Amino acid sequence: MQKKDIKNLTLEELEKVIEKAGEKPYRAKQVFYWLYQKCARTFEEMSNIPKALKNVFSEEYYIGAIELCEHQKSKDKTEKFLFKLSDGNFIETVLIWATDRKTICLSTQVGCKFGCPFCASGLKGFVRNLAASEIIGQIMYLKRDLKHLMTNYVFMGMGEPLDNYENVSKSILIMDDTAGMNIGARRITVSTSGLVPGIEKLKNLGLQVNLSVSLHASNDKLRDELVPVNRRYPIETLIKACEEYRSDGGRMITFEYILISGKNDSLKDADELARIAKKVKAKINLIPYSPVSSLDFKTPTRDKMNIFMDRLEARGVQATLRDSKGKDIQAACGQLAGRQK
Ligand code: SAH
Ligand code: SF4
Repeated sequence: MQKKDIKNLTLEELEKVIEKAGEKPYRAKQVFYWLYQKCARTFEEMSNIPKALKNVFSEEYYIGAIELCEHQKSKDKTEKFLFKLSDGNFIETVLIWATDRKTICLSTQVGCKFGCPFCASGLKGFVRNLAASEIIGQIMYLKRDLKHLMTNYVFMGMGEPLDNYENVSKSILIMDDTAGMNIGARRITVSTSGLVPGIEKLKNLGLQVNLSVSLHASNDKLRDELVPVNRRYPIETLIKACEEYRSDGGRMITFEYILISGKNDSLKDADELARIAKKVKAKINLIPYSPVSSLDFKTPTRDKMNIFMDRLEARGVQATLRDSKGKDIQAACGQLAGRQK
């Protein structure tokens, strides 16, 4: 039998494994503590776990780690990590520093199926989903090997998190669990290009995870072009899913809106955007387009972006305009492309 990475198991799943091995389920919490708080690298070091149970683990599981290939630091302190997975594929993870927060930006897939024409992550198509252990592995590398204490966790790296719902939701459960990483769902944000069934599933997970929707256009004609998944889940359907997500437990919704020169940065666009945001009571996060070398999109001038932002505020919508960090090392939003196998 091929051994599996134990970090693919949620607490509930681990309890079942332990019960099957004839041990008490409370041992699962102890194992979680070793894995995610003590950052154990071996079952051997789990000193309060019975030897017999450790033997069972060793026969079926291992504690995996992803391998760092390259670590770059930007002028603005943003750090980018290129990891090699066990099958030779590559992913990138970003660490973003601000005065009061340290945010890890997690990848969820190698490549992406959704082909937004402005994004580097989808340029080479889709390769595969990450396992929960590989998503969790990105956090564990920074925590265990580099001793970073993150305050915020965002699923905004390579890939579409809600297209890998099973493994992303497992990671969220492990991250949120008080016996596991004990991060708390309110510090976790999932970004999506608008996969409505995924939003519904995330709602049913029942946690206070923040949802960030990559809107980028406020009418279907333009959104069909910029975010092609809109052809399947048009704006009205998406808005409805957002309203339901928010109303079920007071969760926060943010609309991400990249500003692209001459595409979506007119005052008419701002007015349409304000109308939608008000409906969902969403905050808007304006992001200047980050240049991707092979693509032809342009970032608007600072003046133009300020005018857009002022218009939203004049319409009574809460908006922020932040430059995404790490451009000099290709670590900004949408610039993550990994590396070819
Ligand atoms: N697939 C998910 C999450 C990963 S992308 C999603 O699309 O939401 C994270 C964010 O970066 C998304 O808002 C995405 O639209 C944005 N993005 C992609 N390419 C970009 C670029 N070149 N400049 C600025 N933001 C970009
Ligand atoms: Fe995929 Fe998100 Fe990039 Fe679109 S923006 S191609 S959904 S990673």
